[in-house]
Amino acid sequence: MTDPLRAAVADAARRLAAAGLLIGTAGNVSAREGDRIAVTATGVTLADATPGEVTVVGIDGRLIEGELEPTSEIELHLGIYADQPACAVVHTHAPYATALACVLDELPVLHYQQLALGGEIRVAPYATFGSAELAAGVRTALAGRQAALLANHGSVTVGGTLAQAVDHALLLEWLCQLHHRASRLGTPRVLSAQQQEEVVLAALSRGYGATRPIREEQP
Ligand SMILES: [Zn+2]
Repeated sequence: MTDPLRAAVADAARRLAAAGLLIGTAGNVSAREGDRIAVTATGVTLADATPGEVTVVGIDGRLIEGELEPTSEIELHLGIYADQPACAVVHTHAPYATALACVLDELPVLHYQQLALGGEIRVAPYATFGSAELAAGVRTALAGRQAALLANHGSVTVGGTLAQAVDHALLLEWLCQLHHRASRLGTPRVLSAQQQEEVVLAALSRGYGATRPIREEQP
């Protein structure tokens, strides 16, 4: 029987590849359930990922299930799970996120939807892929955020569910594309701290982003 966690990670990888965020074998996806972390194996063509190409490790990195070596960024995934209650981690070399990560030190808040990721998105300093130094920099950049950019490398997003981590990756790429387009037209206006605060209050009071039934008008 197929392990649902391994199948869900393979599904998420295929979805992100179809959206153009995971290209070839670049990038990786993991999801946590209790003490098990299912993560895409190294060298997998993510557009065709299968549950058999997802390896399960413990929170200490020891192999639990699977025949393939986990992603080279396994230390990054394990470090993020050690820091926060995230249930999933997505790492991409998505085109716009990676381009901006070659230029910016921080992605400012141009659009209120970015507040779903926690505000300005920090860019972790460049370090060699798979290194402890890169993992440490990304963990710092993720503090209080659902996303981080990796200088001259790509992006990382987290989520309380695998679907949420995928949505955050798609949103981050949209925001990076927005920044790129707006910057070509002129100097983008950045939302002020007060404007951002008002968005958060409005979202809380209106339940932004969730469906709700139409209420009957009161007579
Ligand atoms: Zn990478």
